[in-house]
Amino acid sequence: MEERIILPAAEMPDKWYNPLPDLPTPLAPPLDPQTRQPISPEQLGVIFPNALIEQEMSAESWIAIPQPVMDVYRLWRPTPLVRARNLEKAIGAKCKIYYKDESVSPAGSHKPNTSVPQAYYNKMEGVRRLSTETGAGQWGTALSFACSQFGMDCTVYMVKVSYEMKPYRQILIRNYGATIHPSPSPATRTGAAMLEKDPGCKGSLGLAISEAVEDAATHDDTKYTLGSVLNHVLIHQTIVGLETQKQLAAIGVKPDYLVGCVGGGSNFAGLVLPFLKNKLAGEKIKFVASEPKACPTLTRGQYRYDYGDMARLTPLMKMHTLGHSFMPAPIHAGGLRYHGDAPILCNLMEEGLIDARAYFQTECFDAAQLFLRTQGFLPAPETSHAIKAAIEVAKEAGPDETVVFLYSGHGMLDLASYDAYLQGKLTNFELPQEDIDSALKDCPDIP
Ligand SMILES: *Cc1c(COP(=O)(O)O)cnc(C)c1O
Repeated sequence: MEERIILPAAEMPDKWYNPLPDLPTPLAPPLDPQTRQPISPEQLGVIFPNALIEQEMSAESWIAIPQPVMDVYRLWRPTPLVRARNLEKAIGAKCKIYYKDESVSPAGSHKPNTSVPQAYYNKMEGVRRLSTETGAGQWGTALSFACSQFGMDCTVYMVKVSYEMKPYRQILIRNYGATIHPSPSPATRTGAAMLEKDPGCKGSLGLAISEAVEDAATHDDTKYTLGSVLNHVLIHQTIVGLETQKQLAAIGVKPDYLVGCVGGGSNFAGLVLPFLKNKLAGEKIKFVASEPKACPTLTRGQYRYDYGDMARLTPLMKMHTLGHSFMPAPIHAGGLRYHGDAPILCNLMEEGLIDARAYFQTECFDAAQLFLRTQGFLPAPETSHAIKAAIEVAKEAGPDETVVFLYSGHGMLDLASYDAYLQGKLTNFELPQEDIDSALKDCPDIP
């Protein structure tokens, strides 16, 4: 009876929640890397539309979701909340486990929750084309889907090594109608210069960001988009937690643990932020973040100002960081290999409101396979980190307690990773302290 909780379409939330007014301590502002003064909205206006800059700094607790965005959301929303009863049995859990299923979106992950409004607000301000970078290809897929919905052009710079090793995502992106360049590409000055220096260069995320930003900054009709980390992205993702609240209320259940994986932090934040007020009001509810031991930003990073990218093009943000020059090991959860985390999430971490845990990739793939063999669905490698943490938490939880985790995406385009797993080819990486210390030396000194 309460196995799959589906909200009636009419009950889909029509506002996003903005946590900024409710943070116990104000968010440290992003700084101009040259002057080290708080960045002005005018500076951000070169690459972002005004509506998103307003959201980035908004003091309003609730932001109405525009009707055209609601209409696109309805292609897959509201998403189901599912009781993982077979998984409970397999691990001998005494508590209940539910998962919020964001894998049912067109792109197969939570990312369209923000790509759709980002495309919409740009379109409303006369922008004709969006540019972005993508690593493993999930954000590129989500943005090309959103652009196809609003009749916009989309240019994706995809790290060349992923473009060659993961052909399926770029095929999907091209079928949505986007233009995709393996990065480094001759399409930008940054890319062309790199190719001249090193024709065999396989690219990096930092380089792809530089290309996408240059594209937006040098074309009047083009703006840049980012799929995680920024405040407006987290705000859009709160639709996940707001729906979950309604679904749990419908069956009279209060969650004791909310669990998610953290790359830049947007899916996890989208689940937990709507419950922030409950936690601050003293309700017993734990926010559990799960990350790879190969990229342990929340568990071992330093809380300080750092650049968002390797090329030092972005504003400085105060966050838990492993250093912008940090090169994470090539783990299969490509979406969790970011050196920093969303400033909102890091702010809450500093307040002691988040319990962060780190896991090896093989134990996460073990958890993913158990999920596949019990619940039947194949999770994305990123999502396997949430499943692993949910299982560990469920083993600690009491009989009357409830664990809810966020199923951020499916793994149907990640089968090569599962093949490597079956063949015993996955390596576990634990980051040596010397590597963290040396990458942190490159961070700017800001008190
Ligand atoms: C991108 C991605 C993530 C990590 O990004 P966040 O911003 O931390 O949410 C996690 N899971 C999936 C399936 C992704 O595509």
